[in-house]
Amino acid sequence: MMRTGFDVIAIGGGLHGLSAALRLARAGQRVLVLERSWVGRHASGASAAGVRTLNRDRGELDLSLESMAMWHDIEALVGDTCGFHANGQICVAESPASLAKLTAKVDALRGAGYTHEEMIGPDELKRLLPALSGHCVGASIARSDGAADPHRTLRAFRRAAEAAGVTIQEQCGVTAIERQGGDWCVVAGERRWTAAAVINAAGAWSARIAAMVGDEIPLDTKSSMMMVTERLAPFIKPVVSIMGRSLSFKQSDQGTLVIGGGLQGTPNLDRGASTARMRVLSKGAHAAVDLFPDVRDIRIVRVWAGLEAKTEDMLPIVGPSPNAPGVFHAFGFSGHGFQLVPVVGAALADLIVDGHTARPIQNLQAARLMGASMEMTLPPLSGQPPLISVKESTA
Ligand SMILES: Cc1cc2nc3c(=O)[nH]c(=O)nc-3n(C[C@H](O)[C@H](O)[C@H](O)COP(=O)(O)OP(=O)(O)OC[C@H]3O[C@@H](n4cnc5c(N)ncnc54)[C@H](O)[C@@H]3O)c2cc1C
Repeated sequence: MMRTGFDVIAIGGGLHGLSAALRLARAGQRVLVLERSWVGRHASGASAAGVRTLNRDRGELDLSLESMAMWHDIEALVGDTCGFHANGQICVAESPASLAKLTAKVDALRGAGYTHEEMIGPDELKRLLPALSGHCVGASIARSDGAADPHRTLRAFRRAAEAAGVTIQEQCGVTAIERQGGDWCVVAGERRWTAAAVINAAGAWSARIAAMVGDEIPLDTKSSMMMVTERLAPFIKPVVSIMGRSLSFKQSDQGTLVIGGGLQGTPNLDRGASTARMRVLSKGAHAAVDLFPDVRDIRIVRVWAGLEAKTEDMLPIVGPSPNAPGVFHAFGFSGHGFQLVPVVGAALADLIVDGHTARPIQNLQAARLMGASMEMTLPPLSGQPPLISVKESTA
């Protein structure tokens, strides 16, 4: 079969597929994005869009900090602010024991040279969150963190990707991937495209795509739920969570309260749907009222549950396939992949265009979950020289 005019095919029209496609197109690659439903149909469109380094796992912290710098300049990347406000993220302690845990965490970060988190006492907490209940004893804070608008972000990434020359094909679900000489043939029903490189950014379904090229990667599914209230006068700027409880609480630019924090609905991958569990959601509502008693009588106007992939260690998989040269994975974001969107796209573009990346993705390789040590090579694209060796150790 003849080449179809694309260098790279990204499977999945969520933010990660779009972000990688954008970077690749700007680097001169011809990119096709294949999306089974429509752009932003799943996790990226359901996201709370918190942009958070606070309480990040150390395994992805360096990557997250690089991404945060990109968020602060997001308009330069996609021509829009994405509704990003850096009003900080705060993790509140309701008891001295919780406070001690937060303090130990921040001290450990400081010991390792990280300064993005700090501790604050009740006075500073009251200044930043005047409506907070008086029982809270302190908090950790990342002042440069914040939140964006997920739909505005999707629109901005899509617009920028298309302006850079990316082709997006919606209603186009990939059903097979076949080796064809040195290329990959991506099949969607009766339609077929070939390219030298393929990105697997298929979110909750990424393990199925990985299996098409021989990578058996254990993956679980998250079905995080969200609640949105009626509009209120502005009263809170930072995003607030609680140490030891499931809560993420913020106020949108429109005045609605957006309440989540990882409470789980019921996922169904085969149906491509998830169901909200009202009893579980009520725990989130209780936590919100415990922290902000004034919201006790506010109406909740909308709830939903999303679908996304979760790994055993809650870290994503970002990097080359262990078994299929030219295939690159970006999935398993386990509930916190929105913040990583700008940097993961850049890392994938490095890998595909240059054959290597200096961005800190060494802890995010698939092999750690596949239980094997590996040594593999990346094929050069566009006539670039020598094979690059990527070494992985057993997890
Ligand atoms: C309720 C909720 C709240 C969240 N809150 C936050 C937060 O505050 N901060 C944060 O950092 N992260 C958050 N996240 C996580 C974040 O939204 C995700 O990590 C991120 O959006 C994942 O983007 P993605 O592009 O990898 O996946 P998705 O957006 O799910 O995109 C994958 C796409 O692949 C498509 N696809 C699947 N199979 C195929 C196929 N065979 N062929 C073609 N296309 C296919 C799907 O239709 C889908 O559109 C939240 C997630 C949820 C659900």
